[in-house]
Amino acid sequence: MIEYGTSPDRAQQLSNAALAMMSELGVIAHPNNFTIFFNYLSGEEPDLTQTIDILRSNNREFDELQCRDLFTRFFDTVNEREIVTRITEDLRNQLSSVLETVRNAGIDTCAYGEALDHFCEYIGDKDFTNLEQALKTLLGATRDIEGVNRLLETRLDNTSTEISKLRRDLEDMKREAMTDCLTGIANRKAFDLRLRDCAMQSMETGKPLSLLLIDIDHFKTFNDNHGHQAGDQVIRLMAQTLQQNVKGRDTAARYGGEEFAVILPMTGLGCARQLAEHIRHNVETRKVVSRIRHEELGKVTVSIGVSTFAYGEPLGRFIERADQALYLAKAKGRNRVATERQIADAHPTAQTPDITTPQPKKQRYA
Ligand code: GH3
Ligand code: MG
Ligand code: MG
Repeated sequence: MIEYGTSPDRAQQLSNAALAMMSELGVIAHPNNFTIFFNYLSGEEPDLTQTIDILRSNNREFDELQCRDLFTRFFDTVNEREIVTRITEDLRNQLSSVLETVRNAGIDTCAYGEALDHFCEYIGDKDFTNLEQALKTLLGATRDIEGVNRLLETRLDNTSTEISKLRRDLEDMKREAMTDCLTGIANRKAFDLRLRDCAMQSMETGKPLSLLLIDIDHFKTFNDNHGHQAGDQVIRLMAQTLQQNVKGRDTAARYGGEEFAVILPMTGLGCARQLAEHIRHNVETRKVVSRIRHEELGKVTVSIGVSTFAYGEPLGRFIERADQALYLAKAKGRNRVATERQIADAHPTAQTPDITTPQPKKQRYA
């Protein structure tokens, strides 16, 4: 759920701008569509902003079908709620069924105890005239209790199978929420969580932590020339290349649109730069062949910014430095790697890395 910490003036502005944009794009003015465009303009949901930017830059129509799709993807939690409700209900049913069986078993054990008592009394009397009958009764009671135990065992077995299945469902749901649907690698949410964990670890262990921000060069032109589907194929290929180039403890994530990030625990700036260079080269030498038309689509290149974590700094600043380095790599001609150290060289008057002054949101690459 999105938190609306916006001031009344800002909310009014966003509201007016959302309605104006909806009217301009021919979007029907109902509450669900308003939610989409209000949040888009607020920029609070980076994934939504990226998606709408992509749709707009590809001149896609925002008809009702498209809008419904966006709403379901970003705001409709009904599906998740339904799954959680079902899981909770299933679990409750399973447990009450086990409880009932245990309770019944309790009653049956009492009956069995009584049967044993009777038999002991009977033996105590040393009157064995009806021994055969007494043994038969005892055997019957023993069989009954065996049956109850078997039932209990089966029920417990079923319950434990069911609980394992429910646990798997929950794990799947969690995994899905952390995975980018186009590429199958970690999404922005997973990236944020992992980066926080890695920064904590770095502070605890004193080991370095580095970050790569990777952006596909001139991707808008690529989409314009070869179509959106071929563009999607390149994004998947990028994700694959990153996965192939990182080790187990590293995390490759889709940071948004055509941007990726790699978190590198226990890695200093120098090694991170080397890996970035390796990735850059790897992408440059890969051939992109259209799945649809089976023709070569030419070369795709990436620019990469590298930063390393400064003990105790806010994570936003750590990311911002990688972004500034990426900006520099773009400015220097693209298809190259730049590190935070070069930001200092490029702006010798600035005290870089600046970890005291928050950076203003900069323009995207010129
Ligand atoms: P630069 O070298 O400065 O990064 O140029 P660029 O064209 O890559 O950058 P710009 O930010 O102008 O455009 C990014 C483009 O990436 C716009 C959008 O169409 C495309 N894009 C982003 N996400 C996706 C996606 O999921 N699929 C496809 N096909 N295109 C995407
Ligand atoms: Mg970009
Ligand atoms: Mg780009």
